[in-house]
Amino acid sequence: MYLLYVDDAGSAGNHEERHFVLGGVALFERHVEHLERAMDKVATNTQLADPSSLEFHGNQLLPGSKRWRAIRGIERRRTILADALRAGNELRGKWAVFGVVVHKAAVSPRDPVEFAFEQLCSRFDYFLGRQVRDGKAERGLIILDKSTLETRLQDLASAFRREGHSWGKLRRVVDVPFFVDSRATRAIPYADLVTYALWRKFEKDDSAFFEVIRDRFDTHGGIVHGLLHERYAEAACDCPYCLSRRRAASAGDGVAS
Ligand SMILES: [Zn+2]
Repeated sequence: MYLLYVDDAGSAGNHEERHFVLGGVALFERHVEHLERAMDKVATNTQLADPSSLEFHGNQLLPGSKRWRAIRGIERRRTILADALRAGNELRGKWAVFGVVVHKAAVSPRDPVEFAFEQLCSRFDYFLGRQVRDGKAERGLIILDKSTLETRLQDLASAFRREGHSWGKLRRVVDVPFFVDSRATRAIPYADLVTYALWRKFEKDDSAFFEVIRDRFDTHGGIVHGLLHERYAEAACDCPYCLSRRRAASAGDGVAS
């Protein structure tokens, strides 16, 4: 069983922001505990009091709000954020990060939240289909942060509940998405940091955190499937999604999923 922990960044209705982003991490059952331990180590290394209750949220850590105020200097906080993202490097076996970056104008008049959620779910489903154990594809569950700012995401999760698994044509996701408290597991804050890394790159033009996870997006046959970048204009982009699609197009195999 794989668990996809998901978080969001940006708001569909905020015209000051160009993007809406969903990000996540797909972990095999035993990875959850290993990631927890690796992130606990990063928390302990900050030397702040009570590290086990220290929460990794990108939009608190980087500006230094809440408990992160005690860490002076943005460069130190940037290092901690990158180290927390590197916690994934400690995992053995198959795991992957996922991201859907939607330039809102590119999908208009479609709801960017619905578009992104559908894309994320089907990309996770495709990943599951390739993780075969004892002749059978793995199953998966989607887990969202209870405090997700995007209420539309909560509506979509309940629509998923009403309309069952035919919604989005998911074959391997076994149940409706669950909402959990981010303090219950370090995997939710990890999904938060992945999402924040995407947000910093695409909305704020700051690639440093994205570079830490660049090679972790689900990839198969040289094509990056774990990341979708829905661009507004045909501007040059060096993200793994755009690069791998350009390579596929010039090789003439026309893969466009
Ligand atoms: Zn791109």
